Amino acid sequence: MEILRIENVTKTYGEKDTAVHALDRVSFSVEEGEFVAVTGPSGSGKSTLLHILGGVDKPDSGTVQVKGTVEENILLPLLLDGKKPNPKRLAQILSILGLEDRKEHLPSQLSGGQQQRVSVGRALITHPAVILADEPTGNLDQKNTKEIMDLFCKLNRTYKQTIVMITHDMKLAAQCDRVLAIVDGR
Ligand code: ADP
Repeated sequence: MEILRIENVTKTYGEKDTAVHALDRVSFSVEEGEFVAVTGPSGSGKSTLLHILGGVDKPDSGTVQVKGTVEENILLPLLLDGKKPNPKRLAQILSILGLEDRKEHLPSQLSGGQQQRVSVGRALITHPAVILADEPTGNLDQKNTKEIMDLFCKLNRTYKQTIVMITHDMKLAAQCDRVLAIVDGR
């Protein structure tokens, strides 16, 4: 089943001489349960794409649909506002993330990989239709990168979590179901 569809999405920053066409008529769809990598050189439009998929930014033209309702499914910060987490769900997430024994720890007492897992947990608590991850391993060493990637693979394979992830790392991209390559916003 298709869970995410974007059609003819265009985004331009600036005007006239200084105009940057960050996205130029981008169209694709993602199936429920798919793990998709977005790759491309710096400045090619990856982050702009993810911001638009997440509803954080608006396209100049084109459409984004997540199971019909963008907000309910992936506007995580809004959903988190004023909603009480379900304790059972919280315990389940801590267990999936392997952080049961770390739940009282301060961020400074956690490794980079553990901190990154907490941010994944923040996303999971809302049962998101899609996790959008912008370079989730960008500032991590090899060991922590593997931990995060293994976690994403487990979420995807075991819990059928749909994920769209930006990465520069072709080895990580190769582990995904599909790779979307973006160059000059296309
Ligand atoms: P990537 O994530 O692939 O590195 P981005 O989506 O961040 O690329 O950027 C795509 C292009 O849009 C780049 O040329 C960038 O400089 C430009 N851009 C991104 N955000 C803005 C902005 N807020 N104002 C002006 N130009 C921007």
